Amino acid sequence: MLDTFAPSKKQLHPRLQLVKPSATLLINERSQALIDAEKEVYRLGFGQSPFPVPACVREALQANAHQKDYLPVKGLAALREAVAGFYRRTLDLNAVAAQVMIGPGSKELIFSLQMVLDADLLLPSPSWVSYEPQANLLGRKTHWIDTREADGWRLRPDALDSICQKIANPNKLLILNYPNNPTGTSYSENDLRGLAEVLRRHGVIVLADEIYGEVSHTQAHSSLAQVYAEATIVSGGLSKWCGAGGWRLGVFLFPQELMHIQDAMATVASETFSAVAAPIQYAAITAFDGNDEIEKYLKGSNQILHWIGNYVYKNLIANKITMSAPEGGFYLFPNFNAYKNIFQQKNIHDSEAMCAYILAETGVALLPGTAFGRPAEELTARLSYVDFDGAFALENYEKYDSEDEFVAACCPKIKAGIERLVFELQLQ
Ligand code: PMP
Ligand code: GLU
Repeated sequence: MLDTFAPSKKQLHPRLQLVKPSATLLINERSQALIDAEKEVYRLGFGQSPFPVPACVREALQANAHQKDYLPVKGLAALREAVAGFYRRTLDLNAVAAQVMIGPGSKELIFSLQMVLDADLLLPSPSWVSYEPQANLLGRKTHWIDTREADGWRLRPDALDSICQKIANPNKLLILNYPNNPTGTSYSENDLRGLAEVLRRHGVIVLADEIYGEVSHTQAHSSLAQVYAEATIVSGGLSKWCGAGGWRLGVFLFPQELMHIQDAMATVASETFSAVAAPIQYAAITAFDGNDEIEKYLKGSNQILHWIGNYVYKNLIANKITMSAPEGGFYLFPNFNAYKNIFQQKNIHDSEAMCAYILAETGVALLPGTAFGRPAEELTARLSYVDFDGAFALENYEKYDSEDEFVAACCPKIKAGIERLVFELQLQ
């Protein structure tokens, strides 16, 4: 027996060595710390919706503050029905309430999906920051699938096919996110059909992370569940289109064929988080039911994001920074490769050092491509164009006819941040 208690890192599970604090949450805290120290920071690192929660949804939360009981593990029945109705209405899916599960953020649901499946994880590179660390925490194997900048970083059916042929594990989980974080591009129905053919051939289960589906600004959003219904789980929630990331409410829609996975996840939920906060679930019914106010809010949000995305895109590509044009969500994935020699002269050889330099010199916070699975020496970064007052923008955007006028009047931090960044690069 030990006579003294000795705190030690050896008390941690060895898997913890494979993960570090999430890059997204870290940049948020780092940016705040710089702001607290009275530094000028352009918060283009963290990806949080800039818009307020619609008034009718806030009122629903107030009206339900008294809800105090634990709710069913899979979610409040009326909310599951509202979510099924949402998917029938927006994606024309044949959804019923039983197929829906509610969780404390889709991030937690994705973690629990990875936990219950005995599967290898397939991820197109780049992919959102948390999928692979979750697999690492669970001791699952990840296979990155390369994509090309010229294809808008979209997964190609032939690349998917060749990796599936190599993986010995018959259980495969692909996480496909569109509109995409970090690239800002999406998949057309035709793209999805091409992928579905390969997925079906290899029996791959897919988590279609469509959390930005309602924030699709250039084309109507299509879902893989429309063309690969039998093995696609659709993921969504209130965080992005409803401005409610901090409310922590995510949803999964399972196909009838995969209800055993939903049951397994409910078992995990019953032993871990129990159920999502009751007032939040009641309020979410209003959000998923939808109404004219929410339609107007979404129309405004998409117009605003379309304008800002285009503004940033056009000003950066005019300065030799390459990237795909924005189609949805609120991210761009600029590639600073044209400045490679200049960065090398400053002893900067990877995207992490590049982002640290840009933050120190310009105050512009970005996340390095490495956080999204890209090779370190590739000078890519994620830029999230959300540093503006969403409530003010929604109130005023209809007064403007063009993105330049709108950004100048309503998004001063975006304008100044992009100018600072471009100025710094031109100085070199
Ligand atoms: N997927 C993607 C692609 C995201 O950007 C986010 C943002 N946090 C999430 C999932 C998780 O969102 P939440 O847990 O808030 O539902
Ligand atoms: N999804 C956001 C991002 O990519 C942040 C929230 C999170 O990581 O949970 O920046």
